[in-house]
Amino acid sequence: MTVLQAANLASLPWLEHGFGTRYCSPAPADYAQLRQTHSDVVVTAPGGATGVLGEGDALITTAPGVWIGIRTADCAPLILADPVRRAVAVVHAGWRGTVNGIAMRAVERLAAQAGSRPQDLVAAVGPAIGHCCLELGPEVTPHFAPWWPERSDLGGRVYLDLAATIQRQLESAGLPPRNVHLASACTRCDEARFHSYRRDGAAAGRMVTAARIRSAPS
Ligand SMILES: [Zn+2]
Repeated sequence: MTVLQAANLASLPWLEHGFGTRYCSPAPADYAQLRQTHSDVVVTAPGGATGVLGEGDALITTAPGVWIGIRTADCAPLILADPVRRAVAVVHAGWRGTVNGIAMRAVERLAAQAGSRPQDLVAAVGPAIGHCCLELGPEVTPHFAPWWPERSDLGGRVYLDLAATIQRQLESAGLPPRNVHLASACTRCDEARFHSYRRDGAAAGRMVTAARIRSAPS
């Protein structure tokens, strides 16, 4: 079994990326990573970065050769790439990080640091818990109302679509709808391929999602 890829990212020759499964990781063990806290904090990985760079939930880089990665087990892994500026971001977006706006903060940081225009960005959300399994309570669901104005049930205990919420956030940030790809798998339903915190509890493993800008040929 190999790592999963999104077609819209795989078509970029300067970029390597992968969404890991329970069997394999796309990145070497020393990839640049964060202590993840479900925050809206974005961290920049400089050239040569490896290992834990600090606390946060999104990493961006413009440095060729640097593997940046995040770990998930139900939370949504998101990769953003800018083919014009050659910048890339990896984002850990569970329901808490999504309510905190982590995907939009990553778009903003790419703009501020790499000069990325939102309309140039290509995005893919990897395997995450599906709307079939993401049941959230009344203490959480009202926070999704800005993204689901057509729903009147968000004060109660309901099922929510995390990936589609991130898609709406990215479109609100200026990404063209055709540039946003969503994986269809549900990590909780598909035990053969994926770890799931909701299914496996505290003992659940984590999948690695990672990307790097290819080094220029020497
Ligand atoms: Zn499911």
